[in-house]
Amino acid sequence: MTHQEYYIQAVKRFNGFLESKRLRKTPERFAILRQVWQMKAHFGIDELHAALENVGYHVSRATAYNTVDLLVECGVLRRHTFVSGEAQYEAAREGHLHLICTRCGAITEVSTPPPMAHMLDDDLYGSFRPAYLLAYVYGLCGECAAKPEPQVRPKK
Ligand SMILES: [Zn+2]
Ligand SMILES: [Zn+2]
Repeated sequence: MTHQEYYIQAVKRFNGFLESKRLRKTPERFAILRQVWQMKAHFGIDELHAALENVGYHVSRATAYNTVDLLVECGVLRRHTFVSGEAQYEAAREGHLHLICTRCGAITEVSTPPPMAHMLDDDLYGSFRPAYLLAYVYGLCGECAAKPEPQVRPKK
């Protein structure tokens, strides 16, 4: 599916989700969802809020936080905690995993290798229905691996 097709699906899903929770379908909530699809792969809430301001859409920080929580709960947005403590978000799309450099924090996405894709097979966990898998592989990116270890100065 393309990014746009995922977006159309996300709008439908969010609609149904809000209805099932008897929550109001405010224009703000859908504007935030639209903006999520314009963001780079991984972003923080502050970046999302700033991007909304940039396109002239004013929502309170509380609304941004609250809507992002709903989008995560609804399953169209994924929440990550990579190296720093601040949560990063990304629009739900094809399965992929994240290679995270523990030295410089660089994040590279690769598509989920087949054995991992099978971890979502329906018959694996009894009555539990798996929906998605978040995977992180920690190590050193090519650039950092090529550099010598940073020297720790002995304390005098
Ligand atoms: Zn690195
Ligand atoms: Zn990602």
